[in-house]
Amino acid sequence: MANQKSDYWNPWLETLDPAALRQIELKNFRKYVGYAKEHSGLYRKKLAGINPEDIRTMEDVRKLPLTDKEDLRLAQHGDYSTLYGDLLGVSATEVSDFRQTSGTTGKPVYVPESYESWQWRVEVWSHILWMAGFRETDRVFIPFGYNVYVAFWEGHYAAEKVGCEVVPGGALETSARIAKIREIKATGLMNTPTYGLHMAEVAKSMGIDPREMGIRKMLCAGEPLPGPTRRLLEKAWGAEVYDHIGGTEPCAWAAMCSERNGLHIMEPFFLVEILDVDDPSKEVGPGELGTAVVTPLGRHSFPLVRFNTKDLVRKAAPGCSCGRTSMKISEVAGRTDHLLKIRGVLFTPVTVEEVLRDEFSEVIEYEITLRRKGMMDSISLKVETEGEMGPEAAGELKYRIAERLKVKTNLTFDTEVVRPGQLPRYTLKATRFKDLREQMNE
Ligand SMILES: [Zn+2]
Repeated sequence: MANQKSDYWNPWLETLDPAALRQIELKNFRKYVGYAKEHSGLYRKKLAGINPEDIRTMEDVRKLPLTDKEDLRLAQHGDYSTLYGDLLGVSATEVSDFRQTSGTTGKPVYVPESYESWQWRVEVWSHILWMAGFRETDRVFIPFGYNVYVAFWEGHYAAEKVGCEVVPGGALETSARIAKIREIKATGLMNTPTYGLHMAEVAKSMGIDPREMGIRKMLCAGEPLPGPTRRLLEKAWGAEVYDHIGGTEPCAWAAMCSERNGLHIMEPFFLVEILDVDDPSKEVGPGELGTAVVTPLGRHSFPLVRFNTKDLVRKAAPGCSCGRTSMKISEVAGRTDHLLKIRGVLFTPVTVEEVLRDEFSEVIEYEITLRRKGMMDSISLKVETEGEMGPEAAGELKYRIAERLKVKTNLTFDTEVVRPGQLPRYTLKATRFKDLREQMNE
């Protein structure tokens, strides 16, 4: 058990020499591949002809095929009589929890958790929370009904494990949640970035300054968190706001330390490769962008080898002032499947969020829609402001936003200012970007 008074949840692992970390990961990868081949229908087929004992170096790892979301869908929703299809890695009687992906990009994947695999996830999350400074003295409010989605369950159990007091805040209106946070004197929150901003907005409308509510730490989950949005949340709540990256299938594989500058990869729980986007046989160097390919080394009920997260991340230089020795990423730049080519220009929707959150504090919600008109792609952007705006002020705002986006992206945005309350508010998985080009061609 880690020394709980320490800065680290597991002082030995978190300060281990990077080469030693890699060796542990390679050894566990070899074992894990052996397990996956033996217990998962998907990997019995996918890794036929691979002898786990031959895997000694990262070059050997790179010879194994990648697994993407579509592989998982096919191995579960094909012609199977059982719920989990070819993805289950333990006997059906060992499954203790059902989770599933959100299905925003297609049919959801059902994820079986055995008690042992679930505890592995909780341990990873305990590292994340401890690293973000959550302690025994914290009372953590989680303003969600967690349903079948994994993130807040992990946060819930890990908060318990590190010694916090956990308050589940599902099935309440936002205003009732705000009242509850004040009533019980919560010091920590776990929520999506969108909902964090929304709660601040509602608190203000109730005449409450969110900065006076006593929240010390916020851990965001469920959606990407660009730097400007994180800083906006910090300002709104007067709290430290922490990010992490991960997903339902592999678990959270990188998270922020107290420096709040980049994310530490959760070594040696995961073997993470950051691969060249054009040539996945090569790993990128520090400062370069690549696609994150992740193997969660303790997931036995749902084996996953070299999962292509499609997250586009920038590898950081080694070392961190917090003393942790794990590899870092300096930036989450978006997703490779959101990297779009519009009129010959490369574009990721997250750029719009960054500009709006950074420079237009009056904008509280937005929506981007991509359409095809004849041969041309057009992008429309709707923005919603905090208060009602006169036509003149709205016209001026529209002009300034379009100008800034033109400079940042080299694209023309057909911008419109809509009335307060017109755009949807999201609690989980915001979908502020809609690409309607495909449908229009059909
Ligand atoms: Zn650090």
